Amino acid sequence: MKEKRFQFCPKCLSKDISNDLSVDSIAGGQVFNKHKCNKCGYNALLFPEMTEKEYSELKEKIDEKS
Ligand SMILES: [Zn+2]
Repeated sequence: MKEKRFQFCPKCLSKDISNDLSVDSIAGGQVFNKHKCNKCGYNALLFPEMTEKEYSELKEKIDEKS
């Protein structure tokens, strides 16, 4: 069975990611679309990918810390 993978924000762990088609990236001559976190505004060319299982494990670890 192939698990579904999704991108998430490495900063705030939000799954609310969208393509960043802002003027900045176009003016910078970027060929690739940047991705942007809609929650904290973090943007990068690539966001890490995870399965739902890996993601929940990561969240648990972070919850333990706080
Ligand atoms: Zn974020």
